[in-house]
Amino acid sequence: MPNSSATNDFVTTLDVEVPEEGKWQEVAQGIFWIRMPLPFDLNHINLYLLKDGDAFTLIDTGIGTSATKDCWESLIERYNIKLKQVIVTHMHPDHIGLAGWLTERFQVPLLMTYAEYFTARAIVAGGQGADNWQDKVYLQRAGFDEEYIEKNTQSKNGIRKVVSPIPLSYFRLQHDSEVKIGDDTWKVMVGRGHSPEHACLYCESRQILISGDHVLPQISPNIGVYNTEPEGNTLKLYLETLPQFLTLPQNTLVLPSHKQPIYGLHNRVNELLAHHHEHLENLLDFCQEPRNLVQCLPILFKRELNEHNMFFAVAECLSHLNYLMYENKIKRTLENKQYRYQAIIT
Ligand SMILES: [Zn+2]
Repeated sequence: MPNSSATNDFVTTLDVEVPEEGKWQEVAQGIFWIRMPLPFDLNHINLYLLKDGDAFTLIDTGIGTSATKDCWESLIERYNIKLKQVIVTHMHPDHIGLAGWLTERFQVPLLMTYAEYFTARAIVAGGQGADNWQDKVYLQRAGFDEEYIEKNTQSKNGIRKVVSPIPLSYFRLQHDSEVKIGDDTWKVMVGRGHSPEHACLYCESRQILISGDHVLPQISPNIGVYNTEPEGNTLKLYLETLPQFLTLPQNTLVLPSHKQPIYGLHNRVNELLAHHHEHLENLLDFCQEPRNLVQCLPILFKRELNEHNMFFAVAECLSHLNYLMYENKIKRTLENKQYRYQAIIT
Protein backbone atom coordinates (compact mmCIF):
# COMPACT_ATOMS: atom_id res chain seq x y z
CA MET A 1 0.00 0.00 0.00
CA PRO A 2 1.31 3.49 -0.75
CA ASN A 3 2.57 5.68 2.07
CA SER A 4 0.88 8.82 3.04
CA SER A 5 3.29 11.72 2.94
CA ALA A 6 1.00 14.48 4.13
CA THR A 7 2.43 17.63 5.64
CA ASN A 8 0.70 20.81 6.65
CA ASP A 9 2.59 23.13 4.35
CA PHE A 10 2.77 21.57 0.92
CA VAL A 11 0.95 19.77 -1.79
CA THR A 12 2.64 16.37 -2.10
CA THR A 13 2.18 13.72 -4.73
CA LEU A 14 1.11 10.26 -3.61
CA ASP A 15 4.13 7.99 -3.74
CA VAL A 16 2.99 5.46 -6.37
CA GLU A 17 3.94 4.81 -9.98
CA VAL A 18 1.75 6.30 -12.70
CA PRO A 19 -0.18 3.36 -14.22
CA GLU A 20 0.95 2.19 -17.66
CA GLU A 21 -1.54 2.14 -20.51
CA GLY A 22 -3.88 -0.84 -20.15
CA LYS A 23 -2.86 -1.44 -16.51
CA TRP A 24 -4.10 -0.19 -13.18
CA GLN A 25 -2.44 1.02 -10.01
CA GLU A 26 -4.01 0.50 -6.58
CA VAL A 27 -3.98 3.86 -4.75
CA ALA A 28 -5.97 2.80 -1.67
CA GLN A 29 -7.50 -0.51 -0.74
CA GLY A 30 -9.94 -1.48 -3.49
CA ILE A 31 -9.42 1.77 -5.45
CA PHE A 32 -7.63 1.39 -8.77
CA TRP A 33 -6.25 4.30 -10.80
CA ILE A 34 -6.20 3.95 -14.59
CA ARG A 35 -5.12 6.35 -17.30
CA MET A 36 -6.57 6.92 -20.75
CA PRO A 37 -4.94 8.90 -23.58
CA LEU A 38 -6.17 12.32 -24.75
CA PRO A 39 -5.28 13.89 -28.11
CA PHE A 40 -4.48 17.32 -26.56
CA ASP A 41 -1.58 19.15 -24.87
CA LEU A 42 -3.00 17.60 -21.70
CA ASN A 43 -2.46 14.07 -22.95
CA HIS A 44 -4.23 11.91 -20.37
CA ILE A 45 -7.21 11.57 -18.05
CA ASN A 46 -7.32 9.61 -14.81
CA LEU A 47 -10.23 7.25 -14.18
CA TYR A 48 -10.89 5.30 -10.99
CA LEU A 49 -12.33 1.81 -10.54
CA LEU A 50 -13.78 1.17 -7.08
CA LYS A 51 -14.30 -2.40 -5.92
CA ASP A 52 -18.02 -2.89 -5.49
CA GLY A 53 -18.86 -6.45 -4.39
CA ASP A 54 -17.81 -8.75 -7.22
CA ALA A 55 -17.71 -5.90 -9.75
CA PHE A 56 -16.60 -2.25 -9.95
CA THR A 57 -18.04 1.22 -9.88
CA LEU A 58 -16.27 3.32 -12.50
CA ILE A 59 -15.63 7.05 -12.12
CA ASP A 60 -15.43 8.76 -15.54
CA THR A 61 -14.85 6.98 -18.83
CA GLY A 62 -12.30 8.59 -21.17
CA ILE A 63 -12.80 10.41 -24.47
CA GLY A 64 -14.66 8.39 -27.13
CA THR A 65 -11.80 7.58 -29.50
CA SER A 66 -10.65 4.21 -30.81
CA ALA A 67 -7.43 4.65 -28.76
CA THR A 68 -9.48 4.78 -25.54
CA LYS A 69 -11.62 1.83 -26.62
CA ASP A 70 -8.47 -0.20 -27.25
CA CYS A 71 -7.23 0.66 -23.78
CA TRP A 72 -10.53 -0.40 -22.27
CA GLU A 73 -10.50 -3.69 -24.17
CA SER A 74 -7.09 -4.63 -22.82
CA LEU A 75 -7.97 -3.55 -19.27
CA ILE A 76 -11.24 -5.49 -19.29
CA GLU A 77 -9.46 -8.58 -20.51
CA ARG A 78 -6.39 -8.30 -18.27
CA TYR A 79 -8.37 -7.87 -15.03
CA ASN A 80 -11.64 -9.52 -16.05
CA ILE A 81 -13.47 -6.29 -15.21
CA LYS A 82 -17.21 -6.18 -14.72
CA LEU A 83 -18.91 -2.88 -14.07
CA LYS A 84 -21.80 -2.39 -11.66
CA GLN A 85 -22.41 1.31 -12.39
CA VAL A 86 -20.76 4.27 -14.07
CA ILE A 87 -20.48 7.65 -12.37
CA VAL A 88 -19.57 10.65 -14.54
CA THR A 89 -18.31 13.72 -12.66
CA HIS A 90 -19.21 16.16 -15.44
CA MET A 91 -20.13 16.46 -19.10
CA HIS A 92 -16.77 17.22 -20.74
CA PRO A 93 -15.97 14.71 -23.49
CA ASP A 94 -12.89 13.26 -21.77
CA HIS A 95 -15.14 12.32 -18.85
CA ILE A 96 -18.41 11.30 -20.51
CA GLY A 97 -16.98 10.13 -23.86
CA LEU A 98 -17.46 6.39 -23.43
CA ALA A 99 -20.25 6.44 -20.81
CA GLY A 100 -22.78 5.23 -23.37
CA TRP A 101 -20.47 2.59 -24.79
CA LEU A 102 -19.65 1.17 -21.33
CA THR A 103 -23.12 1.31 -19.78
CA GLU A 104 -24.55 -0.41 -22.83
CA ARG A 105 -21.87 -3.08 -22.84
CA PHE A 106 -22.42 -3.95 -19.17
CA GLN A 107 -26.11 -2.94 -19.09
CA VAL A 108 -25.57 -0.83 -15.99
CA PRO A 109 -26.84 2.57 -14.81
CA LEU A 110 -25.22 5.95 -15.44
CA LEU A 111 -25.08 8.28 -12.43
CA MET A 112 -24.72 12.04 -12.97
CA THR A 113 -26.08 15.31 -11.71
CA TYR A 114 -29.08 16.77 -13.51
CA ALA A 115 -27.34 19.76 -15.12
CA GLU A 116 -24.39 17.69 -16.33
CA TYR A 117 -26.56 14.95 -17.83
CA PHE A 118 -28.87 17.28 -19.74
CA THR A 119 -26.11 19.67 -20.81
CA ALA A 120 -24.24 16.71 -22.27
CA ARG A 121 -27.30 15.56 -24.18
CA ALA A 122 -27.92 19.09 -25.50
CA ILE A 123 -24.33 19.57 -26.63
CA VAL A 124 -24.20 16.22 -28.37
CA ALA A 125 -27.56 16.97 -30.07
CA GLY A 126 -26.01 20.14 -31.53
CA GLY A 127 -27.63 23.28 -32.90
CA GLN A 128 -30.54 21.56 -34.68
CA GLY A 129 -30.28 24.09 -37.50
CA ALA A 130 -30.45 27.22 -35.32
CA ASP A 131 -28.51 30.15 -36.77
CA ASN A 132 -25.14 30.77 -35.13
CA TRP A 133 -25.24 34.59 -35.28
CA GLN A 134 -24.73 34.77 -31.51
CA ASP A 135 -21.49 32.78 -31.76
CA LYS A 136 -20.26 35.44 -34.16
CA VAL A 137 -21.32 38.26 -31.86
CA TYR A 138 -19.47 36.54 -28.97
CA LEU A 139 -16.17 36.67 -30.89
CA GLN A 140 -16.87 40.13 -32.33
CA ARG A 141 -17.41 41.56 -28.83
CA ALA A 142 -14.08 40.03 -27.79
CA GLY A 143 -12.25 41.93 -30.54
CA PHE A 144 -11.52 39.28 -33.19
CA ASP A 145 -11.46 40.22 -36.89
CA GLU A 146 -13.97 38.97 -39.47
CA GLU A 147 -11.60 36.39 -40.91
CA TYR A 148 -11.01 34.76 -37.55
CA ILE A 149 -14.73 34.83 -36.75
CA GLU A 150 -15.70 33.21 -40.06
CA LYS A 151 -13.12 30.47 -39.59
CA ASN A 152 -14.06 29.73 -35.99
CA THR A 153 -17.84 29.69 -36.20
CA GLN A 154 -18.25 26.98 -38.81
CA SER A 155 -20.10 24.11 -37.23
CA LYS A 156 -17.81 21.13 -36.85
CA ASN A 157 -19.92 18.64 -34.94
CA GLY A 158 -16.63 17.88 -33.19
CA ILE A 159 -18.09 16.76 -29.89
CA ARG A 160 -20.32 14.10 -31.39
CA LYS A 161 -17.29 12.33 -32.85
CA VAL A 162 -15.78 11.81 -29.42
CA VAL A 163 -18.87 11.10 -27.30
CA SER A 164 -20.65 7.79 -27.79
CA PRO A 165 -24.47 8.11 -27.70
CA ILE A 166 -25.50 9.09 -24.18
CA PRO A 167 -27.88 6.66 -22.43
CA LEU A 168 -31.51 7.76 -22.58
CA SER A 169 -31.99 7.38 -18.84
CA TYR A 170 -29.83 8.11 -15.83
CA PHE A 171 -29.76 8.13 -12.03
CA ARG A 172 -29.62 11.58 -10.54
CA LEU A 173 -26.84 12.63 -8.15
CA GLN A 174 -27.44 15.68 -5.99
CA HIS A 175 -25.33 17.77 -3.62
CA ASP A 176 -25.13 15.98 -0.23
CA SER A 177 -26.70 12.80 -1.58
CA GLU A 178 -24.90 9.53 -0.85
CA VAL A 179 -23.71 6.69 -3.07
CA LYS A 180 -22.96 3.25 -1.63
CA ILE A 181 -19.92 1.62 -3.24
CA GLY A 182 -18.92 -1.70 -1.68
CA ASP A 183 -18.87 -1.10 2.09
CA ASP A 184 -18.18 2.60 1.69
CA THR A 185 -20.49 5.57 1.60
CA TRP A 186 -19.49 8.43 -0.69
CA LYS A 187 -21.05 11.86 -0.34
CA VAL A 188 -21.66 13.99 -3.43
CA MET A 189 -20.15 17.49 -3.21
CA VAL A 190 -21.17 19.71 -6.11
CA GLY A 191 -18.71 22.23 -7.49
CA ARG A 192 -19.65 24.84 -10.09
CA GLY A 193 -17.77 27.05 -12.52
CA HIS A 194 -15.70 24.52 -14.43
CA SER A 195 -18.96 22.92 -15.52
CA PRO A 196 -22.55 23.51 -14.39
CA GLU A 197 -22.99 20.92 -11.61
CA HIS A 198 -19.76 18.96 -11.26
CA ALA A 199 -19.95 16.02 -8.83
CA CYS A 200 -17.02 15.35 -6.51
CA LEU A 201 -17.25 12.30 -4.22
CA TYR A 202 -16.01 12.22 -0.64
CA CYS A 203 -15.69 9.16 1.59
CA GLU A 204 -15.58 10.46 5.15
CA SER A 205 -14.61 7.18 6.85
CA ARG A 206 -11.57 6.82 4.57
CA GLN A 207 -10.81 10.52 4.01
CA ILE A 208 -10.64 10.15 0.25
CA LEU A 209 -11.89 12.76 -2.23
CA ILE A 210 -12.50 12.01 -5.89
CA SER A 211 -12.18 15.58 -7.11
CA GLY A 212 -12.73 15.28 -10.89
CA ASP A 213 -11.66 18.51 -12.58
CA HIS A 214 -12.84 20.75 -9.73
CA VAL A 215 -9.60 20.48 -7.73
CA LEU A 216 -6.55 19.66 -9.85
CA PRO A 217 -2.87 19.58 -8.90
CA GLN A 218 -0.33 21.59 -10.94
CA ILE A 219 -2.86 22.97 -13.39
CA SER A 220 -5.81 25.25 -12.76
CA PRO A 221 -9.20 23.93 -13.95
CA ASN A 222 -10.52 25.97 -16.87
CA ILE A 223 -13.21 28.39 -15.71
CA GLY A 224 -14.91 29.66 -18.83
CA VAL A 225 -17.78 31.80 -20.01
CA TYR A 226 -18.83 30.43 -23.39
CA ASN A 227 -21.03 31.59 -26.23
CA THR A 228 -24.07 29.71 -24.88
CA GLU A 229 -24.20 32.06 -21.86
CA PRO A 230 -21.98 35.06 -22.54
CA GLU A 231 -23.23 37.04 -19.52
CA GLY A 232 -22.49 34.19 -17.10
CA ASN A 233 -20.46 34.61 -13.91
CA THR A 234 -18.84 31.18 -13.70
CA LEU A 235 -15.77 32.42 -11.83
CA LYS A 236 -17.99 33.54 -8.96
CA LEU A 237 -19.59 30.08 -8.92
CA TYR A 238 -16.16 28.46 -8.82
CA LEU A 239 -14.82 30.75 -6.09
CA GLU A 240 -17.96 30.10 -4.04
CA THR A 241 -17.93 26.30 -4.32
CA LEU A 242 -14.20 25.74 -3.86
CA PRO A 243 -13.84 26.72 -0.16
CA GLN A 244 -16.21 23.89 0.91
CA PHE A 245 -13.22 21.56 0.51
CA LEU A 246 -11.39 23.42 3.28
CA THR A 247 -13.87 21.77 5.69
CA LEU A 248 -12.49 18.32 4.81
CA PRO A 249 -9.36 17.08 6.62
CA GLN A 250 -6.07 18.47 5.28
CA ASN A 251 -4.63 14.96 4.93
CA THR A 252 -7.48 13.82 2.67
CA LEU A 253 -6.19 11.73 -0.24
CA VAL A 254 -7.25 13.65 -3.38
CA LEU A 255 -7.84 11.63 -6.55
CA PRO A 256 -8.01 14.12 -9.44
CA SER A 257 -8.88 13.61 -13.12
CA HIS A 258 -5.53 14.88 -14.38
CA LYS A 259 -1.91 14.71 -13.15
CA GLN A 260 -1.41 12.60 -9.99
CA PRO A 261 -3.14 11.87 -6.67
CA ILE A 262 -2.09 14.32 -3.95
CA TYR A 263 -2.16 15.19 -0.29
CA GLY A 264 -2.42 18.78 0.89
CA LEU A 265 -6.02 19.58 -0.05
CA HIS A 266 -6.21 22.88 1.85
CA ASN A 267 -2.98 24.13 0.32
CA ARG A 268 -4.13 23.27 -3.16
CA VAL A 269 -7.53 24.93 -2.66
CA ASN A 270 -5.81 28.06 -1.32
CA GLU A 271 -3.38 28.08 -4.25
CA LEU A 272 -6.26 27.90 -6.72
CA LEU A 273 -8.13 30.72 -4.97
CA ALA A 274 -4.97 32.85 -4.94
CA HIS A 275 -4.31 32.09 -8.62
CA HIS A 276 -7.66 33.55 -9.68
CA HIS A 277 -7.38 36.57 -7.40
CA GLU A 278 -3.94 37.30 -8.84
CA HIS A 279 -5.37 37.11 -12.38
CA LEU A 280 -8.18 39.45 -11.38
CA GLU A 281 -5.76 41.99 -9.92
CA ASN A 282 -3.50 41.86 -12.99
CA LEU A 283 -6.47 42.37 -15.29
CA LEU A 284 -7.71 45.28 -13.23
CA ASP A 285 -4.26 46.93 -13.44
CA PHE A 286 -4.12 46.37 -17.18
CA CYS A 287 -7.60 47.84 -17.64
CA GLN A 288 -6.63 51.25 -16.24
CA GLU A 289 -6.83 52.09 -19.96
CA PRO A 290 -9.84 50.70 -21.90
CA ARG A 291 -9.02 47.27 -23.37
CA ASN A 292 -10.82 44.63 -25.36
CA LEU A 293 -10.71 40.92 -24.44
CA VAL A 294 -8.11 39.97 -27.08
CA GLN A 295 -5.76 42.59 -25.65
CA CYS A 296 -6.23 41.09 -22.18
CA LEU A 297 -5.26 37.53 -23.18
CA PRO A 298 -1.48 37.93 -22.61
CA ILE A 299 -2.21 39.06 -19.04
CA LEU A 300 -3.62 35.59 -18.26
CA PHE A 301 -1.65 33.46 -20.72
CA LYS A 302 2.08 33.87 -21.13
CA ARG A 303 2.40 31.05 -23.67
CA GLU A 304 1.53 31.03 -27.36
CA LEU A 305 -2.08 29.86 -27.87
CA ASN A 306 -3.02 27.37 -30.58
CA GLU A 307 -6.56 27.19 -32.00
CA HIS A 308 -7.78 24.60 -29.48
CA ASN A 309 -6.29 26.53 -26.55
CA MET A 310 -7.60 29.86 -27.86
CA PHE A 311 -11.20 28.69 -27.50
CA PHE A 312 -10.68 27.99 -23.79
CA ALA A 313 -8.45 31.07 -23.28
CA VAL A 314 -11.17 33.43 -24.55
CA ALA A 315 -13.73 31.78 -22.28
CA GLU A 316 -11.38 31.95 -19.27
CA CYS A 317 -10.59 35.60 -19.89
CA LEU A 318 -14.29 36.45 -20.23
CA SER A 319 -15.11 34.72 -16.92
CA HIS A 320 -12.60 37.01 -15.19
CA LEU A 321 -13.79 40.17 -16.98
CA ASN A 322 -17.44 39.37 -16.23
CA TYR A 323 -16.54 38.71 -12.58
CA LEU A 324 -14.86 42.12 -12.30
CA MET A 325 -17.83 43.74 -13.99
CA TYR A 326 -20.37 42.18 -11.60
CA GLU A 327 -18.16 43.22 -8.67
CA ASN A 328 -18.34 46.79 -10.02
CA LYS A 329 -14.56 46.90 -10.43
CA ILE A 330 -14.66 47.53 -14.18
CA LYS A 331 -17.18 49.03 -16.54
CA ARG A 332 -17.95 47.67 -19.97
CA THR A 333 -18.83 49.77 -23.00
CA LEU A 334 -19.62 48.79 -26.58
CA GLU A 335 -17.54 50.50 -29.27
CA ASN A 336 -17.36 49.37 -32.90
CA LYS A 337 -19.08 46.08 -32.00
CA GLN A 338 -16.37 45.36 -29.39
CA TYR A 339 -16.59 45.46 -25.63
CA ARG A 340 -14.06 47.73 -23.93
CA TYR A 341 -13.32 47.13 -20.29
CA GLN A 342 -12.02 49.86 -18.02
CA ALA A 343 -11.30 49.92 -14.31
CA ILE A 344 -13.66 52.01 -12.22
CA ILE A 345 -11.63 54.50 -10.22
CA THR A 346 -13.06 54.88 -6.72
ZN1 LIG B 1 -13.61 19.15 -17.34
